[in-house]
Amino acid sequence: MDKPSLPGHKAREYIDRDRKVISPSYSRFYGFMMDHGLGSEVWDVDGNRFIDFAAGIAVCSTGHSHPKVVEAVKQQADRFLHISSDFYHPIWIEFSERLASTAPFKEPARIFLGNSGTEAVEAAIKLARYHSGRQQFIGFYGSFHGRTLGALAFTARKPAYRHGFLPLMNGVTHVPFPDPYRPILSSNDNDYGETVVDFIEQVALSKVVPPEDCAAILVEPIQGEGGNVVPPDGFFPALRRLCDKHGILLIVDEVQSGVGRTGKWWAIEHWGVEPDIVCTAKGIASGLPLGGIIARESLMNWPSGSHGNTFGGNPISCSAGLATLDLIGNGMMQNAAEVGEYTLDALSEIQVRHPSIGQVRGKGLMIGIEFVKDRQSRNPASALRDRILEQAFQRGLLTLGCGESTIRISPPLNISRDLIDEGLEILEIAISDAEEGLD
Ligand code: PLP
Repeated sequence: MDKPSLPGHKAREYIDRDRKVISPSYSRFYGFMMDHGLGSEVWDVDGNRFIDFAAGIAVCSTGHSHPKVVEAVKQQADRFLHISSDFYHPIWIEFSERLASTAPFKEPARIFLGNSGTEAVEAAIKLARYHSGRQQFIGFYGSFHGRTLGALAFTARKPAYRHGFLPLMNGVTHVPFPDPYRPILSSNDNDYGETVVDFIEQVALSKVVPPEDCAAILVEPIQGEGGNVVPPDGFFPALRRLCDKHGILLIVDEVQSGVGRTGKWWAIEHWGVEPDIVCTAKGIASGLPLGGIIARESLMNWPSGSHGNTFGGNPISCSAGLATLDLIGNGMMQNAAEVGEYTLDALSEIQVRHPSIGQVRGKGLMIGIEFVKDRQSRNPASALRDRILEQAFQRGLLTLGCGESTIRISPPLNISRDLIDEGLEILEIAISDAEEGLD
């Protein structure tokens, strides 16, 4: 397989211009300069083709430029682009009804829409405070919830996200996330998830946060940015019991794990637990800016004027969202479940050939491959992981890192097995080259 030296000539020119005008705060890992995309394939400005195992960051759920999404956007653009949220429009209502019908709880749902994941989290925090009349929260180490000052108070992934931005919203206490591969707490129980919930009750709620002051626990069902970490099965049922015992709301941040990515509408459904508020964004409109919360009707008692925005319910985003939900509900979610399992099986075989792979994990098409210096120590092989990302890019595969030393696989939900095979072949060559120190 020929290996071009990327980025190519045109891409380099654009990158030089980018460096002069775009905020340097974005993290860019390698120099992919998008020209166009179709389905699970993308092309850069020099005409090089790549298989897309990133889908933005789990955003292009229906693939790049799905014709039905594009058509919905075009049709709406011809009608109107915006109307103030002081007024009404049908597509906002239709989309919200459709989204509410997917809610992972029995009670009727109410929807609040914004433009991003971090705004969804802000809305959830505010609603939890407003409804409960309590001020305190519990969040988890390793979590990522966004970068506005409320959401950032929960984000606990790396100091760089916080350095220079303190103080954040107060009232957030962090506890360990139940990562069974890297447990922080020692556990005598069979289920490490239950150990973590015991810790929350016996330490956090007994020594730091008075339970009667705790508005909510905010948690990602599967930690995305933190490494695509799947908690043990006992975790969510025990967490729900704890919340019920103390009247604490359970907010699940499904910005990355939701909208069919794990083979169900919402990842929390894998554990049969009903949350109180769901945060969503990313894949919900196939790439158009849209996010929001799905809350139990009985919680949304905030009055007119208490929360709102200019762009909430944007008609183009809602049109794209409606088309997206139709596509995901009519086949793509099923594909995510089936192709996800196929991918996990294939990765387990690759793991046998590569001792640097410590663990392969995931649900549906939210998969993590964790690289270690050796399987005994489990020390993270961060530099190796970074070399693999670069090698894969050079050979025509877009992947992203997450956690200390994990590669995430989060392609469009309609990716074919053929493209998975082709992508995994490139990935394995990249792993071999990186293990041998070739570049
Ligand atoms: N929550 C989770 C779980 C996320 O993964 C992200 C983004 O990666 C966010 C919130 C923030 O979303 P946004 O970047 O749209 O603000």
